[in-house]
Amino acid sequence: MTGREFIKAIFFVEILKGLALTLKSMFTPAVTRRYPKVKRPVKPGFRGLHALAKDEDGRMKCVGCGLCGAYCPSKCIYIYTSDGEDHTKVVDRYEIDVLRCIYCGFCVEACPFGAITLSEHYEYSDYSREPFYMTKEKLLSNWDKYFAGEKGENYFKKFWRPLSEDFRTPEGQAMFKGIKNEK
Ligand code: SF4
Ligand code: SF4
Repeated sequence: MTGREFIKAIFFVEILKGLALTLKSMFTPAVTRRYPKVKRPVKPGFRGLHALAKDEDGRMKCVGCGLCGAYCPSKCIYIYTSDGEDHTKVVDRYEIDVLRCIYCGFCVEACPFGAITLSEHYEYSDYSREPFYMTKEKLLSNWDKYFAGEKGENYFKKFWRPLSEDFRTPEGQAMFKGIKNEK
């Protein structure tokens, strides 16, 4: 043992250094959080649990075109439709296997009607697979739970492009008006 090491050992230098570090850390802000007691605020545009949007009258916006399913890289969206009255399409089933989703957001971007959304809700762990298979009813109720009021109205305006109104015919564009039968 050298003289320097001997002095360090006598005066407990290393222990004092450790105590000083502990004391210092007691007065600096913690970098860890006690989840779930302390939660980080979710940033705008967070991609959480899916929801099917409703319009002002409470009707489902989805028309069953299937674009979201076609774009989904995980192929976890299943849509079943049938023919309704007046050549309308009825969405009988709209299902998402959430466990296969990679939260890319392509479905939201692909939808021309702003019908599928990703909410800010992320706390939905469970012990079985069944709750993660989202049916149309569950997805619609997610809209009521996580997009009530202004939140739902602002969702697309703030975070997603193109907006459904971007698909409207531009002002002044020549339009086919029909042929007049002039005799
Ligand atoms: S977020 Fe991506 S992976 Fe998930 S359902 Fe939508 S398109 Fe599919
Ligand atoms: S959510 Fe949108 S893209 Fe998907 S089927 Fe419905 S209307 Fe079409």
